[in-house]
Amino acid sequence: VVTGQPSEIGRRERLQAVVRTKELAALLVQAGENRRYLSGFTGSSGWLVVTSERSALITDGRYWTQVKEQCPGLELVRFIPDEHVSLGKRALLWMQEEGISGQVGFESPIMNVSEHSKLVAEAESLKLAIELVPADNLTEHLRQCKDEGELETMGRAARAADRAFMSALEVFKAGIKERDFCVELEYQMAKHGARKPSFDSIVASGPNGAFPHAGVTDRVIGHGELVTVDFGALVDGYCSDTTRTIWIGELPELEQKVYRAVREAHKRALDAIRPGKLGKEIDKVARDIIIEAGFGEAFKHGLGHGVGLAVHEMPTLRSTSDNVLEMGMIVTVEPGIYLPGQTGCRVEDSVLITKDGVEYVTKSPYQELGQHHPLEIQPMS
Ligand code: ZN
Ligand code: ZN
Repeated sequence: VVTGQPSEIGRRERLQAVVRTKELAALLVQAGENRRYLSGFTGSSGWLVVTSERSALITDGRYWTQVKEQCPGLELVRFIPDEHVSLGKRALLWMQEEGISGQVGFESPIMNVSEHSKLVAEAESLKLAIELVPADNLTEHLRQCKDEGELETMGRAARAADRAFMSALEVFKAGIKERDFCVELEYQMAKHGARKPSFDSIVASGPNGAFPHAGVTDRVIGHGELVTVDFGALVDGYCSDTTRTIWIGELPELEQKVYRAVREAHKRALDAIRPGKLGKEIDKVARDIIIEAGFGEAFKHGLGHGVGLAVHEMPTLRSTSDNVLEMGMIVTVEPGIYLPGQTGCRVEDSVLITKDGVEYVTKSPYQELGQHHPLEIQPMS
């Protein structure tokens, strides 16, 4: 994505229309991903104030030049910490200058309690006729369907991760520690263009695989153990998210059964995705297969999630999700089986929802049962 191009202007106009529909006098946008999505600004501090007619970015002197370069056409409101005290107070002063009154929306999952109470007190002392109201997920909703520029960036993030995975497999041997394989994978992602991992990578071997969000330990990887590797690359602000389960040598019967069920659930859920389906319908397809295989209790999380500027974003694919899948969304599908004290397994891809199915964004190959080493994986086409 070339920042500052009309895509951000179009996004702000769409949000302004939402602000109009919700009859908000203004919306305060604090979340970093939302700020970046709407402005193209890559700095780490600043509030965006969006009214039905206009948008303004409030940030401090470290970023003024950057804002001019990255956000042509966006109004910059200068925040001087010694003078204005806080970004929130600067936002209120701007609203006072502009004569804004009425309901002002804020992102309640982002604004903390102390910021909120200060804002209320300051609005009062400035005698502003505004009422702060939660206005959640308005920008997140717009972010669900990706535009062409985003698809291109996410493709690059996924390729960095895919290539890193193949390179890292060179050092995947019995006797290697989880930590050392993780370091190699993250190093390779950086070499292939990632700014950093898009989340804390997971390399979970043997019984460690039974923790869905295991981290990385000094455990030495042995023969015949499933090793869950969950990894992602951050490229130009966008995340990739992939999980592969790999092993060395001959797998015991239980591990084979677990892997077979997860792969089948993964494949069938992906086959079932279409625009118009609900998140919970796709979750059920995968969950039913895992239940049939006798591991129902061991699938301990939802099937998947949207991915983009954030690694976890809307929509969600879980048993309670009424989110309607739409063309242009990128979602993960990641069934897993976790057997405490024994083993665990998860397989995950990020896919673009198309008019009649999906297109894979992540393209790392899978190890197949019968293969004794991940290097027997067929190279990517
Ligand atoms: Zn993942
Ligand atoms: Zn995921």
